[in-house]
Amino acid sequence: MISNRHQLPAPFVALFNRRQYSKGDSHWSVTQLISPPKIAVLRDEHARAIADKTDLADQFWSLMGSNIHKILEGYEAADHVVEERIHTTVEGLRISGQIDVQRHQNGRVGIVDYKFTSVWSATRPKPEWEQQLNAYAYLLRKEKGLVVESIHVCAILRDWRATDVTRRKEYPEAPVVMREQRLWSFEEQEAWVTDRVRGLVAAQAALHLGEELPECSDEDRWLRDGTPIRCSNFCDVRDYCGQWARHQETENGKEETEVPDGPRPKGRGAAGKQARSGSRGKSSRSVDDSHAREKSERLEVGDEHPDNSKKETGGDK
Ligand code: SF4
Repeated sequence: MISNRHQLPAPFVALFNRRQYSKGDSHWSVTQLISPPKIAVLRDEHARAIADKTDLADQFWSLMGSNIHKILEGYEAADHVVEERIHTTVEGLRISGQIDVQRHQNGRVGIVDYKFTSVWSATRPKPEWEQQLNAYAYLLRKEKGLVVESIHVCAILRDWRATDVTRRKEYPEAPVVMREQRLWSFEEQEAWVTDRVRGLVAAQAALHLGEELPECSDEDRWLRDGTPIRCSNFCDVRDYCGQWARHQETENGKEETEVPDGPRPKGRGAAGKQARSGSRGKSSRSVDDSHAREKSERLEVGDEHPDNSKKETGGDK
């Protein structure tokens, strides 16, 4: 159960409890497809334990994002379809995605996805945005025969400041901006979706057999100057990740050992290492070096790059 360490008022708790996550009647949602398979599978497997380590205050931006979606859902506009969930079958598995907005015009469709995000994110390439929207375009074409002609993210910038518009280069001119994403061919979309489904199937099979899960790539781990930023600061499944534990072993000058994916002896990778070694590692990025750090690091839910503002709330979806 989620904690409330900052003793936020009861309506916050009620708001959180009312929040619904859904992948519809499907095995996987598009949101899961855009996560590296190891992360998606470990999140699914350890969902309850991850929730138990989460604090209500850390969920604040996520709650705000969800509620912006809810508000916008309530307003209809001609030729627009909002919040439609589309299902399909890929490799024998049911896949679904919920599309925030479809604008229909002359038999063609424009897709828009709301993101409650940071200025940092909106001013840098986000491959997962492009992937998500192309997966939606694939669903519409495959299941409804609709031709998608454009895909956009409507980025709602929670940390936008008017005073920065003239001071900072390439700063967004408004607190809400549209970001066009590159539209792939149907063949590219299909190949990407199929590849991701196969990756998830392989990861799930490995987990159930007690084998090593497919590794996250350097790109998945947001490797910079040898440091996997996502693992060390943002990934909410690192406590269960052998790859991260091994990285820490190596970092601490130990001989690399076989560390399978699964719960670590203590709350975090380094904590597990400490439990095994009985001493503090050289960097001691672990357990008690910062309660505050741990708190802020738990924010990831929606796969966002490190931007000091954490969590993104894109939906489902
Ligand atoms: S801790 Fe790193 S390697 Fe492990 S699942 Fe997370 S991102 Fe991937």
